[in-house]
Amino acid sequence: MTHYIPEDLPDRIRHFIDGEFVDSVGGETFDVLDPVSNETYVQAAAGQQADIDLAVAAAKRAFDDGPWPRMLPRQRSRVLHRIADLIEARDARLAELETFDTGLPITQALGQAQRAAENFRFFADLIVAQRDDTYKVPGRQVNYVNRKPIGVAGLITPWNTPFMLESWKLAPALATGNTVVLKPAEFTPLSASLWAEIFREAGVPDGVFNLVNGLGEEAGDALVKHPDVPLISFTGESRTGQIIFGNAAPFLKGLSMELGGKSPAVVFADADIESALDATVFGVFSLNGERCTAGSRVLVERPIYEDFVARYAARAKNIVVGDPHDPKTEVGALVHPEHYEKVMSYVEIGKGEGRLVAGGGRPEGLETGNYVAPTVFADVSPDARIFQEEIFGPVVAITPFDTDEEALELANNTRYGLAAYIWTNNLKRAHNFAQSVEAGMVWLNSNNVRDLRTPFGGVKASGLGHEGGYRSIDFYTDQQAVHITL
Ligand code: NAD
Repeated sequence: MTHYIPEDLPDRIRHFIDGEFVDSVGGETFDVLDPVSNETYVQAAAGQQADIDLAVAAAKRAFDDGPWPRMLPRQRSRVLHRIADLIEARDARLAELETFDTGLPITQALGQAQRAAENFRFFADLIVAQRDDTYKVPGRQVNYVNRKPIGVAGLITPWNTPFMLESWKLAPALATGNTVVLKPAEFTPLSASLWAEIFREAGVPDGVFNLVNGLGEEAGDALVKHPDVPLISFTGESRTGQIIFGNAAPFLKGLSMELGGKSPAVVFADADIESALDATVFGVFSLNGERCTAGSRVLVERPIYEDFVARYAARAKNIVVGDPHDPKTEVGALVHPEHYEKVMSYVEIGKGEGRLVAGGGRPEGLETGNYVAPTVFADVSPDARIFQEEIFGPVVAITPFDTDEEALELANNTRYGLAAYIWTNNLKRAHNFAQSVEAGMVWLNSNNVRDLRTPFGGVKASGLGHEGGYRSIDFYTDQQAVHITL
């Protein structure tokens, strides 16, 4: 298979601190691999405490003395719209770099780049339309909310759809007048370096955006423990979230935690089966299955179960796995050999826990690279590891149920609670189920498409707090109450 390598790759990935690209103070680096060859294609600066100290100091200066927090919302909004324009203008370049670095199919990476632009446009509009509470007690008191940016926000992001997930935090943090230090995931640092050029060209003042690459246990840890960073917005594994929660506790930091998932897709016999098949196949195999909201447990009502499993398996077998840069590809290469090993180990575990009806290993003809055939296990019991644990790859567990009560019990039978998908044409059942299911987000008879105004977040081990729309504005601002006696 040909291996596409984008032109003009950087010779080194550096930090971006106070408007300058810089190496680590001590010169430390780490290797970055591409997931098709698994060879090192570049070295990235490995941030340590000293680099985080410099980045936080720059961000603090920009917050304390710079123009950014003091600009009118309309002025910041103009800069954010310029950022969106610049992302759109280079969406093809962004997609090719993202695909090269992550192994995501190119068509899906392009969609994610466009979504990143949309995130900036959305918050650009929201801050100029922002209104806050005012209350009057006639003859006695007037009260109003004075909303203020908080300071230096620490943003720590994962390797799945990295550029888009970074935009999700950068846009509201900057829109509200904070300054930031971003620590992107070490598996996928390539696209993040484009932020620096984009922000510079859009007119973001030096020090407002700072980027420190590096390992979670080094750069990420130093950011979490820095006393001048009052806010940490984290997206990643639940286990990492627990560590960060503990490390931030002595400082009483503001925390937003978007964590893992093992979301159920529940298909009742009265559903539109064709649509349910399309959506549940897409729901776990798009983005290589490396998606926090993947519907990785499909629960199917008994009367349609065997037919559904057979049709599901047939579709999974038809999914095109291959070179991430080929527009025909539907599942590309998993991000990193370590992650590939993890997913493959679950495929082996699944063979002892369920009935393998599609996939089950490396696809034929793809001898190198982190490729996994879309894998479907049926008859998976709720105590199976592949039912309980987040695999984060193209692997799905299908389980039958007989009653609404059993479906709900199965849906809620994990530590996670991020998303749930429900397929039924019974309106009452759909709403009742939605209200009882332990999930931060529910999609009824619909694909995972989110209106940017709605809250995003999970319950149980899937997270704390919400991002999205006004919830992001709330997270990145202090709401001071001012009371005036009349
Ligand atoms: P991860 O937890 O391994 O890493 C995420 C980030 O945290 C990386 O930048 C990493 O360097 C950093 N990190 C690691 N240890 C740290 C520490 N001790 N202190 C500070 N930072 C540290 O997660 P991942 O493997 O990159 O991403 C996949 C996970 O993210 C999955 O569990 C997935 O479900 C989750 N995710 C959740 C959402 C959501 O919105 N709920 C979205 C995308 C991904």
